[in-house]
This record gives sequence, structure tokens and C-alpha cells, in this order.
Amino acid sequence: MHTIVCYTLQQNLTMVMLGKRCTMISEKMSGLVKNSSVIRAMFEEGKRLAGIYGAENVYDFSLGNPSVEPPIEIKDALLAVIKEEKPNLVHGYMNNSGYEDVREKISESINHNFGTSFHSDNIIMTVGAAGGLNVILKTILNPGDEVIVFAPFFGEYRNYVSNFDGQLVIISPNTIDFQPNLSEFEQKITRKTKAVIINTPNNPTGVIYSENTIMELANILNRKQKEYESTIYLIADEPYRELAYDGVEVPYLTKYYNNTIVGYSFSKSLSLPGERIGYLVIPKEVEDYENMIAAANVANRILGYVNAPSLMQRAVAKCLDSKVDLEIYNRNRELLYNSLVSYGYQCVKPQGAFYLFIKALEEDDKAFAEAAKKHNLLIVSGSAFGCPGYCRIAYCVDYAMIERALPAFQKVAKEYGL
Ligand code: PLP
Repeated sequence: MHTIVCYTLQQNLTMVMLGKRCTMISEKMSGLVKNSSVIRAMFEEGKRLAGIYGAENVYDFSLGNPSVEPPIEIKDALLAVIKEEKPNLVHGYMNNSGYEDVREKISESINHNFGTSFHSDNIIMTVGAAGGLNVILKTILNPGDEVIVFAPFFGEYRNYVSNFDGQLVIISPNTIDFQPNLSEFEQKITRKTKAVIINTPNNPTGVIYSENTIMELANILNRKQKEYESTIYLIADEPYRELAYDGVEVPYLTKYYNNTIVGYSFSKSLSLPGERIGYLVIPKEVEDYENMIAAANVANRILGYVNAPSLMQRAVAKCLDSKVDLEIYNRNRELLYNSLVSYGYQCVKPQGAFYLFIKALEEDDKAFAEAAKKHNLLIVSGSAFGCPGYCRIAYCVDYAMIERALPAFQKVAKEYGL
């Protein structure tokens, strides 16, 4: 038998373990691993249940992985880029912000769609929205700076903010319509507030923040900047911008508030989450623009991304007017929403993204998700999004799976006396 003894000087890392392998990962990482995503855990559980009951009898609504194929244009574009290949056109290192011609095309497309006036030097290509958020948070945060989010929110924000020793400040949910709770927001802004992250269309509610909400939010931010003589950045996390139903407009936030930075992603608009491609928009009007753009460029490099994937940059630049077939998600949304409401579930009808956020049928959302699992329904408890008492259903799945799952949702409702 081996005896492994590890010594460190720091008391909290001291480990003396007999007969066991000892791990020396950082304290911060130990905590993060422990709290690691419930959504991923659910995904693993789905695979386990499928092994027991058969894949067709397990209804996995846990993961926001697009079920709709990327548009044909993206496949054609990828092939074309490879065929067009000349030395240094693709595959090589580049400016850390990305190819200039790609950034120019993207800025023109945004200008065309939203009446803005950006250029290539307002765009930084990123490794998806996640990469973009990490780049911008690294760029602006000093330890202890506060970043405000509105519950319910994408749970990874906790990690992204903690990566740079920021403090997450959570605004409690407005469960009437899931527009942000602006009175609490105003009260919680302090001298230490450095940024506010908003995500519309929203994960997990599917709600689109209205133009009135955005204008009021911008007024509050302007008032508070003046009061504290500070700069507060508004970070618009927009991976679902293109997924809006019934012709509902998603306001383009740089038009409402000067210190806005937009993080966009092609993960959902073109169904390319594994390809890791997106961009940041940093307008000239943003306070300290010159330093900000230079710092974000360096952050992209030193976080280890170096630059966004080159082949994907070239491919998406050819597909800026393409979108996935939204009608497929819309059909899922209508079937699931109408059916669940008819069984007695409560839910704000989502206008965007591909999530439905239902009220759990008991106070404890985790217990409710467990009760649903007994019927092979995998849904994620709202606590993961800072909103206990609710559960998220991701409907980026096959229509046929929703049809098969409906009797199970109905049985759960009956169990709770609906
Ligand atoms: N922000 C939100 C609200 C998301 O839902 C996701 C992914 O699901 C991301 C960011 C990360 O997106 P990406 O795959 O582009 O990094």
C-alpha cells in the first residue's frame, strides 16, 4: 500500500492523506467544482435514465442546446472559405480582436439593422458570448467592484464575475411579468457599482424587456452616474437576440444608454454553440473608449482565447443575414405553453429564446424538479437562476418528444391536485 503525504505551509491547504490520492486544486476551484452546474448534472442524469427506461421514454428539457440545424448557408460558407483559402486568409494568428474585414462587415450589418454607426474598431470577435463576457469583465473589474444582475439570470454570471473578484449583486425577481424590478435596482446601485448585466430575450424566462423598461433603466443609470460621479457600464448579453416570436422588437441598447457594451453570439442564432463564435460591440460613446478597446483586445489574448476561431469568423461573416428556422422553436413553444397552461401550470408566455419558466407546484422548486423526474421529466429548478419557486423547461427539443412528454406533465399536475 502506498502512503502519500502532502505538506503545504498554508493551513487551509495542508493535507495529510494516508492511502488516498490527494488533490491540490485551489480552494476557489474546489468550491466551484462542488457547486458545478446543476444543468450539466441533469444532463448526465438524463443519460442514466435513458439507459434504464429507453431514450424515447425520457423527456430531457434540461439543456439549452439548439435542436434546430444550422442554416444551409453556414455549411456552404464553411466550404467556400476552405476552397477560397490563400496563404494567411485563414488558420493563422491575427489581431487579437479578429479579422478587420470581418469586423467591418459585422459593424455594417448592425448599422443596417439598427441605424447605428459602428466601424470595425468597435467590434472584438470573441469565443462566444461566454468569452465576450469574460473579456469585458476582465477589462473593467477591480476586486470588490459590484456587478448587478436581475433574477432570474443565467447562473454562469456568478462564475464570470467571481473570475475577476467582482461582487455579484442580485436584484430580486418581479414574478408578475419578469420585467426587471427597477425600484429595487435603483436602491441597490452604490458607488462600487461598475456594471449591470442584462439578458433579453432572457434565459430562463423567455421574456423580452420592453422599450419602456429599457428607457427607465437607462434613466436610473444616468441619474446614479451623476449622483456618484461614477461610470456604470451596461452589459447587454444577447445570445438570443434573433430568437424573438410574434414580431416582437428587441431594443438595441446602445441607442438608449451611452455606456452600453453588447455581447453577441452566433451560438443560438446560427445553432453553432460548439464552434464558439461571437463578438463584443464597444461604441465610441463609451466612457474611456480608447483604453477600453485596447484593454479588451489584450484581455482576449491573455485570458488564453488569443483570438476567436478564424474559420468561424470567416464563415459567419458570409451569413450575417441568415437565421435558424424560428418556426420550429415557435411550434414547440405554442404546443408546450398551451398544453401546460391547460393542465393548470402558471407561466408567463415567452416571447423569445427557447425556454419556459413555470411556477413550481410546491414551494421547494428542487423538490418539484425531483417529483417531475419520477415521471422521467428533466427540468431545472429556478434556484439555479436565482429564482426559487420556479423551474425552467428548455424547449429546444424535438416536437415529437414534447408530444410524448405531455401526459407526464399532466400526471405531475394531477399529483399536485390541479
Ligand atoms: N448568456 C446566456 C444568457 C446564455 O444562455 C448562454 C448560453 O446558453 C451564454 C451567455 C453563453 O453563450 P455562448 O455559447 O455564446 O458562450
